[in-house]
Amino acid sequence: MTPDAPPPDLVPDRDCGGCVECCRVLQINDEEIRKPAGKLCPESSGAGCGIYDRRPGVCRGWFCGWRKLGYLPDDARPDRSGVIVNTNREDGARNCFERHYVIVRGTRAGEDFQSPAAQAVITALTRRSGLPVWLGYEDSKTLVHPREEIAHLVLNGNPPPDHLSQEIADWRQRLGPA
Ligand code: SF4
Ligand code: SF4
Repeated sequence: MTPDAPPPDLVPDRDCGGCVECCRVLQINDEEIRKPAGKLCPESSGAGCGIYDRRPGVCRGWFCGWRKLGYLPDDARPDRSGVIVNTNREDGARNCFERHYVIVRGTRAGEDFQSPAAQAVITALTRRSGLPVWLGYEDSKTLVHPREEIAHLVLNGNPPPDHLSQEIADWRQRLGPA
């Protein structure tokens, strides 16, 4: 979904090229356009947007993490890496890990996130994003950062063991109330 004039926060020298993964993988529920997850948008030519000059506003303003985050590997374009990254905010979040987070979605059926490209993306996000990281495919998602032990301690309010107390405190400070 490349815009006519890329906003200044995009990574220089990265473009969508022939990638159309966001037009296929993501669900869009907007008054101008609706499509289910996992189905290529009917407006796509397969190599780009077929209505590029009059594409909906939601498409004009949307870019995946690979276009926005310079610390993701250059070769992790979603059509090559098999994963697409974006940040989400959920009004109806069940807990602090769902309020504002990064999600790495598999673009291929059965994606197990074990490929070197997927692992490089996940590692970069866990080190650099500062946000919870989820892995997702279609309607399901699994929290992978922080790991389960840390997430449990952040949520349950019990005093953590000494060796984890700083890590727990850091997450609580960043994410707010559990
Ligand atoms: S997934 Fe990213 S690289 Fe691919 S078309 Fe969408 S914005 Fe461009
Ligand atoms: S309208 Fe164009 S940019 Fe928007 S999802 Fe469909 S193909 Fe992609």
